[in-house]
Amino acid sequence: MAAPPVEAPEPEIYDPLPTIAATLAAIDSPAFVLDGEVNVLSQNRAAERLFGALPAGAHLTGRLRSPGILDMVRETISTGEPNQIEHSERLPSERVFIVRVAPIESDLDAARPAVGPFYLMVFRDISELRRIDRMRSDFVANASHELRTPLASLRGFIETLQGPAKGDAKAHDRFLGIMFDQATRMSRLVDDLLSLSRLELKAHLAPDQTIDLVPLVSHVRDALLPLAEELGVEIVLHMPDARVDVLGDRDELVQVFENLIENACKYGQEGKRVDVFIRNDQSQPVEVSVVDRGPGIPAEHVPRLTERFYRVSVTDSRSKKGTGLGLAIVKHILTRHRARLIVKSEIDKGTEFTVRF
Ligand code: ADP
Repeated sequence: MAAPPVEAPEPEIYDPLPTIAATLAAIDSPAFVLDGEVNVLSQNRAAERLFGALPAGAHLTGRLRSPGILDMVRETISTGEPNQIEHSERLPSERVFIVRVAPIESDLDAARPAVGPFYLMVFRDISELRRIDRMRSDFVANASHELRTPLASLRGFIETLQGPAKGDAKAHDRFLGIMFDQATRMSRLVDDLLSLSRLELKAHLAPDQTIDLVPLVSHVRDALLPLAEELGVEIVLHMPDARVDVLGDRDELVQVFENLIENACKYGQEGKRVDVFIRNDQSQPVEVSVVDRGPGIPAEHVPRLTERFYRVSVTDSRSKKGTGLGLAIVKHILTRHRARLIVKSEIDKGTEFTVRF
């Protein structure tokens, strides 16, 4: 008996969509699967959060009206080549994305025809990178500007000494004095910039020496006595008799209190007195406060004081040999020490900078 003819089985059609959708759900960047008509077949949670949920099969333009993205998707659909563009969203907050679309290769097995074609569109958030880029270029611009001013003044004086003031001994003395001050200002600025960059390098390392704040703050006071005397300011210490230990880095903590006490003497000079309190009450965090009776700082400036190069008055800071980096350095050191800087200021009454460990 002849065997009945065997019919070749219909090739099973492979539908990769459920697998793709499951993979998408594991991605934390907003992502969509589109078909060849730019309909959304699947979107993950992150995409729902950013653009709202779309019913399956709805056209992408139901949520995303950016002509740039649509053109890019259409081009990928017609050429089969991946594409990407930059895209900004203003709401709920300004964010910048790189949006990439690429065909999904799901028909790798020729014996198993697949439904499709499908396209994967992913949004990569680069807002933070952009913010850091902007900060870095602002910082370089500020630092260059700060160095250029004393350099221009040095060049001007050198030219004057070479030309119009060539034989004038009195002018020589005066100009050389100014040139020395400008060169010193540039060195201070470079020292502060180097301090900041060293601190950035070790930002993630917590300091581990046991430091007694009582002798440390006394030592800072002694070192600042000549300046205080010159300004007519008295520095008065209020501290317990016992040790006040914190985990820290000695040189960095010296830098913090030097900056705060020096600022209090310089900017609070007219109050004639700076008080420094070390508090170590049971069950409270250790605190050191530096209090001056100067003109105070208008409230709108207080939140920005620790930004690099931020000064309430640039002329005032320059005349007091400031670089605008002191409190930025303080903030960096305190972050590494897991400590906070708290600023309270009242106009015409004075300012209090507190370090809370
Ligand atoms: P600078 O090198 O200019 O002193 P800082 O970063 O140390 O830079 O301080 C930033 C600015 O904060 C100063 O220019 C000054 O305007 C203000 N400031 C700091 N400390 C005081 C203070 N005790 N009283 C008033 N203003 C202050």
